[in-house]
Amino acid sequence: MEVHADVDGSGVPLAVLLKRELCNQKVEKPDILFGEVNKSKKGEDFTFLVDKCHRSPGEGASSTGGENAGDDDTISVFAIFDGHNGSAAAIYTRENLLNNVLAAIPPNLTSEEWTAALPRALVAGFVKTDKDFQTKAARSGTTVTFVIIDGWVVTVASVGDSRCILESAEGTVYFLSADHRLDANEEEVERVTASGGEVGRINIAGGAGIGPLRCWPGGLCLSRSIGDIDVGEFIVPVPHVKQVKLSNAGGRLVIASDGVWDALCFQEALNYTRGLPAEAAANRIVKEAVTSKGLRDDTTCIVVDILPPEKLSPPLKRPGKGGIKALFRRRPSDEMSEDQMDRGCFEPDVVEEIYEEGSAMLARRLNINYPAGNMFKLHDCAVCQLEMKPGEGISVHGNMPKHSRVDPWGGPFLCSSCQVKKEAMEGKLHSRSTDVFTQKL
Ligand SMILES: [Zn+2]
Repeated sequence: MEVHADVDGSGVPLAVLLKRELCNQKVEKPDILFGEVNKSKKGEDFTFLVDKCHRSPGEGASSTGGENAGDDDTISVFAIFDGHNGSAAAIYTRENLLNNVLAAIPPNLTSEEWTAALPRALVAGFVKTDKDFQTKAARSGTTVTFVIIDGWVVTVASVGDSRCILESAEGTVYFLSADHRLDANEEEVERVTASGGEVGRINIAGGAGIGPLRCWPGGLCLSRSIGDIDVGEFIVPVPHVKQVKLSNAGGRLVIASDGVWDALCFQEALNYTRGLPAEAAANRIVKEAVTSKGLRDDTTCIVVDILPPEKLSPPLKRPGKGGIKALFRRRPSDEMSEDQMDRGCFEPDVVEEIYEEGSAMLARRLNINYPAGNMFKLHDCAVCQLEMKPGEGISVHGNMPKHSRVDPWGGPFLCSSCQVKKEAMEGKLHSRSTDVFTQKL
């Protein structure tokens, strides 16, 4: 053990070393308290709440099986799936996504390596879940806002328009999910159009367009989701991923479906929850959203408090002080509260951005230059983890232009069916037809 070696070598008392360890939060994990409230209109919102779950796939990776996981080596997972055109995609994703993500993380990693491998595994897990769901031939799609808490590190992967916001203990707000509504995302409109979709509003007599921007065929308002095979492959499941590390003062996450965000802005939602514990906070947000707009849509909210160990009270002490942080900035150390000073080892309120990437292009998301790229097995399909014989895989860079500096023979590699999926998502199969796609599988 490193601690004992240090004691032997330097003579630093164990108590001091342990305190340093606590300050670095290498030993102590935060307490996680959470609450969830759902008001159902169509019955298409689903949630996933596991406060302790093993990192390896299959062990406790379900909403009911994680209860008995020990304290060591566990993560917490919270998610909202807002289904449309039926609930099959939301239910399938809820049952399979976590396992698909965990299966994409190489075994035997250190905790730091695991954190670094997670964003790429989320991309692989989302795409595999979407691809597998297509074989069910069930029409429907779902948004996914998928939050993994590992110690003080929060990683959020999102497709669609459910959202996750973080308010740090001091009161600064961070957006951890992207908005994949066509109305709100010009870049996505361009991508969908370039991949063969048509984007426009519903036309009424006289030619004027009404309502939100939609993607045709299908008329979906979202540019990314899991499912929606009947809409088109250009509606991709590749998630926006953002990873941050909280200071050990903690913070509060609010994860909610569009039923909440169509009625309340983030600041209103947070203001309603001041001083309330997680369950009551979620209840208040849903109540206020329904009061304001009526129950027009499924309205779901999960509130998660990430708290210094044994500090079982809501963390938000300074109502209304913070603003939105578009950029991550360090706070001066004089922002520490007396309480934090008293505890001796609290850092100032700093939320550190570790990773953020939202590209829809698999070649970019599975890049070999990815910080943890060398941890992944070269001969496993980077999406579905199928083991391939040497030479059998197709480079994810296979379709890069010739002048690109990327070695076209370099990995990561995809199996042939995942390569078909990749080309379809990029609009290269020139097909919107389910039948053509499944024949090629
Ligand atoms: Zn594959």
